[in-house]
Amino acid sequence: MTLTIAHIFPALLSTYGDAGNVAVVRHRAESRGYGVTTLTVLPGEPVPSEADIYVIGGGEDAQELRAVELLRRESGLAVAVRGGAPVLAICAGMQILGEWFTDGSDIRVPGLGLLDLRTERRSARAVGDVIADAIAIPGLPTLIGFENHRGGTSLGADARPLAQVLQGVGNGSGEAVEGAVQGSIIGTYLHGPVLALNPALADHLLAQVVGPLPPMDDTLAEEFRANRFQRAQA
Ligand code: GLN
Repeated sequence: MTLTIAHIFPALLSTYGDAGNVAVVRHRAESRGYGVTTLTVLPGEPVPSEADIYVIGGGEDAQELRAVELLRRESGLAVAVRGGAPVLAICAGMQILGEWFTDGSDIRVPGLGLLDLRTERRSARAVGDVIADAIAIPGLPTLIGFENHRGGTSLGADARPLAQVLQGVGNGSGEAVEGAVQGSIIGTYLHGPVLALNPALADHLLAQVVGPLPPMDDTLAEEFRANRFQRAQA
């Protein structure tokens, strides 16, 4: 079986190595014997509705605005979500999938309305390492990643926080929670890339498409994780 990963607008949205998330999904799928095709969607191109997994990264404010304008004209992602395709949305990507976020002039910019969340500018930028206990997805080990965002995100009733924050800011709207899970969409503020630091999250995305996965040799990934935990907690 060949899996198709749609990588949405890496030319606009791929801060702090977010493009690496696609490489991690690919590697973990190929290690289990699956073929992988990556569709890189360029700004202005249509978003496919038939991909198996969707990945959208974070970005600076100007690129985020450009991306949301283009994506609002597209129905491919909404169709895929209705069909249950897993989506990983990082930082600006998560904000874009929400109901709205505010721009630099505090004007509300409509999002895609696929996640029940709203993002307003915080008084201060949240920057640093985040450590958080996953709550919305059973069986995930503690999550770690790097955040850098000015937006503070509040979740509505249809979205659940991905994780409880132990260190760092996370969504930054009062409660110490991080990210959002709604249906097949996972949103998070974690860069890293998040899937390299938390490969179990990549397997969760894959398992939604192919079912339970056999274990694989994670020696290197575990070393990387341990190193990052050590540095974050120092
Ligand atoms: N521009 C958005 C913010 O600052 C998203 C940042 C990001 O994706 N790193 O909140």
